[in-house]
Amino acid sequence: MYYRLTYILQLFLAPLVLAIACLALIVFELLPTSLHNFSELLVWVFALTGGLLAISYARTRILFALLFVLLSYWLVEHQVQLPSLKNAAAPFNLDAPLSYLLISFLLPILFTVNSIWSERFHLLQDLLLRFLAFSSICLIFFAVSQSFPLELSEWLSTTYVPTRHLAILGLAQIPLLTFLLCALILLIQLISNPQPYFASQLIGFISMMLMLQWFSQPMTPTLVTLATLLMLSLAVLQEAFQMAFRDDLTGLPGRRALNERLQRLGRNYSLAMSDVDHFKKFNDTYGHDIGDQVLKMVAAQLNKVSGGGKAYRYGGEEFTLVFPGKTAEQAKPYLEKLRIAIENYQVKIRDEAQRPNKDKKAKAKRKNSSSDSVSVTISMGVAERSAELPTPEDVIKAADEALYKAKGAGRNQTAVYK
Ligand code: GH3
Ligand code: MG
Ligand code: MG
Repeated sequence: MYYRLTYILQLFLAPLVLAIACLALIVFELLPTSLHNFSELLVWVFALTGGLLAISYARTRILFALLFVLLSYWLVEHQVQLPSLKNAAAPFNLDAPLSYLLISFLLPILFTVNSIWSERFHLLQDLLLRFLAFSSICLIFFAVSQSFPLELSEWLSTTYVPTRHLAILGLAQIPLLTFLLCALILLIQLISNPQPYFASQLIGFISMMLMLQWFSQPMTPTLVTLATLLMLSLAVLQEAFQMAFRDDLTGLPGRRALNERLQRLGRNYSLAMSDVDHFKKFNDTYGHDIGDQVLKMVAAQLNKVSGGGKAYRYGGEEFTLVFPGKTAEQAKPYLEKLRIAIENYQVKIRDEAQRPNKDKKAKAKRKNSSSDSVSVTISMGVAERSAELPTPEDVIKAADEALYKAKGAGRNQTAVYK
């Protein structure tokens, strides 16, 4: 839980920096108004760049989030900000207050529906379905706002509960309730599945809602839109980076990240290889799903490594630990600490209903063991760089040899390469 929390805070870092930078530009009026036209152009450049990035990584959700930001920006600039000038020529004949109310109500709904709708289909199919769904939602609102402008405007702007405490963001109560509900859904989604996109989206969404409050200040819509587009584009890059460098099951950096790290080690370091004991048998007894659960636990424990070490998933049930600036003997106590923590950790097995039924053999075997928690042990081998082992590949091979010795000597122990 602690690691998930720190990871979520980490995800907030980039979007928050952008939001704060944007706020500083607005509050201290750091941007000369002569740049206004240029920044308006920049919005379209950022949107196009972000959109192309999202398409090339098949992130349809992010693509649509970018579109909603752009749509809100366009509506605020052209339907709300300059109603007297634009109304006659505007393609939609909304009057300013109603279109403002609509944006503040529609934006949260679009953001949230898009966010909880996961990318399951083929890229083109997904694009088409989302386009149909969201344009239908927009068209319905447009049609209702054209047919019942007064009723809709009244429904959206009425104060239902007379209280002064609800005047957050200057929103009327229905849009405020929608905003709070949607922000809560986006937050729950982020906590249950921490991903850069969910963090960027939440901060971007809140920024856009704040922008609606201050839209009449010069440059505010443009700057907030720019910051939000950047947050979302950055999320595409962060997710692409994670896809390449992080292991999906355990969340640890994977083999590619390890290879990258190995190239940047100095002259003094040690490497440890660890392997789960009798894991094949474990999988046969408890099933692959519980095996996966246990691997996640092992990875989470190894991730707590102290002494300046760092854990990577080497592949399968094997993990590598890198200790820069440490000899094998110096690294050993930190490895022993991890080994003992894993030996003592009891993984709770979720109830029978959640176990795969098809795994009949595994199920029959499990019946004999009445306990509902399991544990595993790991063996480790560690070696350091030396004149005899000059390259990281040599050190890994030596650590593997030591691991083999630890297995031969009865497992659940750490061996140093001699
Ligand atoms: P030893 O103590 O000698 O290491 O015995 P072992 O059974 O662990 O031997 P080995 O390393 O050959 O077995 C590896 C097993 O790990 C094979 C496979 O069933 C299991 N395994 C590898 N990757 C995964 C995974 O991602 N999930 C699960 N559930 N099992 C995995
Ligand atoms: Mg193995
Ligand atoms: Mg093994």
